[in-house]
Amino acid sequence: KYSIGILGMQGATEEHAKHIYDLGHETILIKNKEQLEKVDGLIIPGGESTAIWRLMKKNNLVEAVQQFAESKKPIFGTCAGLVLLGKGQVEAGQIVSLGLMNIQVKRNGFGRQKDSFEAGLAVKGMKETYPAVFIRAPYIESTGENVEILASYDDKIVAAREENLLVAAFHPELTDDNRFLELFLSMVGEKTVVAV
Ligand code: GLN
Repeated sequence: KYSIGILGMQGATEEHAKHIYDLGHETILIKNKEQLEKVDGLIIPGGESTAIWRLMKKNNLVEAVQQFAESKKPIFGTCAGLVLLGKGQVEAGQIVSLGLMNIQVKRNGFGRQKDSFEAGLAVKGMKETYPAVFIRAPYIESTGENVEILASYDDKIVAAREENLLVAAFHPELTDDNRFLELFLSMVGEKTVVAV
């Protein structure tokens, strides 16, 4: 049984907690860096990346999350969480990003006409298509050399992995198909076994 942190600044935290609980693990809503020290893996949920970022700074969580990643503990960033894990882009004069993953992100990349939609994705390593729910989603414009592309939609990269970091442009917590959360938990499992 793993202890999974869900970054509790703003956004879709409860739905993640429910699914992780259903999969047999415990969750902690992360509001400060002391709580972060107790968990085996971290989910950065969807929401509004600028709001999450502002609250992370206010609660001294920027460096703490960067250190968490550097210690090779797994992080799963979904939607706004993907934006925050990628290389930053300037928003209103400041960079809104942890800069941890070697991906260039296009925020709100699917445009207003496609604010939210569902699509069946072919995902590397999954036999059947995955029902992905996109809400004002970003996409990945380009990836660095150690990044494995897991899925694309409309020629745009929407899921990827780089070592201990996993990102999805969609909301895996909004479907009952838990394969992405299971993939993340398997990354936590690999790390936890090594650490024992
Ligand atoms: N558009 C949001 C952002 O850039 C992300 C939307 C979401 O997480 N559903 O922060």
